[in-house]
Amino acid sequence: MSPARDETTPGVLLAHHLKQLKLPTVLREYDKVARECAQGGLDHPRYLLRLVELELIDRERRMVERRIRAARFPAVKSLDTFDFAAIPSLNKMLVLELARCGYILSRENVIALGNSGTGKTHIALALGLAACQKGFSVTFTTAASLVNQLMEARDERRLLRLQRELAAVKLLIVDELGYVPLSSTGAELLFEVFSQRYERGSTVVTSNLPFEDWTSVLGSERLTGALLDRLTHHVSILSLNGDSYRLKTSRSRRGRAERAEQNQATADPHDPETGEIPPA
Ligand code: ADP
Ligand code: MG
Repeated sequence: MSPARDETTPGVLLAHHLKQLKLPTVLREYDKVARECAQGGLDHPRYLLRLVELELIDRERRMVERRIRAARFPAVKSLDTFDFAAIPSLNKMLVLELARCGYILSRENVIALGNSGTGKTHIALALGLAACQKGFSVTFTTAASLVNQLMEARDERRLLRLQRELAAVKLLIVDELGYVPLSSTGAELLFEVFSQRYERGSTVVTSNLPFEDWTSVLGSERLTGALLDRLTHHVSILSLNGDSYRLKTSRSRRGRAERAEQNQATADPHDPETGEIPPA
């Protein structure tokens, strides 16, 4: 190696090697951190430690982001934005406990039941996000979409692969069981998914229907019984019964707008006809 090359290439070589080692944060930060450490009089081990820590923090963040993308959430929602006071039927302590993800380690299930607009999807999304942050793989889907995917996979002779994928994910979230009645094949395929995950992985299900009405979606009483048997063996049930949050907020928005209009009408001293302020 010629001395000239030796002088000009460390940066280039370092960039190459760090890329190969997949240490993008070390690459991005080493120069800046070196200057900071020199200023602060930190020795080489401390410099290296600081760089490695930055890489670890960034790597964890990148992995969480990757898991969130892989989960295919329709929206990213967390418990921070959930107003528990709006839904007193929901056991807040239980939800906070579930967000710690212990149930995923013990392969237990969660079922959220309640009428439309009460926050079931929000809670399911928040539990999914918490799981991603804790390092678990997550898949989010609706019952209708899951059944469509299964039927399509069966027609294309790749059902086994899809079933394996669905069985392997640490947390499967099946939203909106109950809005669409399923064909008998669809119901059987869905049953197989739950059955294959039984005591192997956690499943979160949300439904607008109480258990006694699940037969109307799944068609057969026998299948519904067998499905509920597996799903509810180790389960936390969240009950969300109350007014639709959607309706409530749009009503209060409308109410606020109307009140603002009235206030304006009473506060504005101008005569609406002439535009003049009438004498008191
Ligand atoms: P569901 O799935 O039960 O029909 P969603 O979870 O889709 O209801 O809730 C409807 C909308 O209202 C969503 O935008 C959701 O984020 C919001 N929402 C529902 N309940 C609450 C709540 N208690 N606090 C904050 N937002 C809520
Ligand atoms: Mg929903």
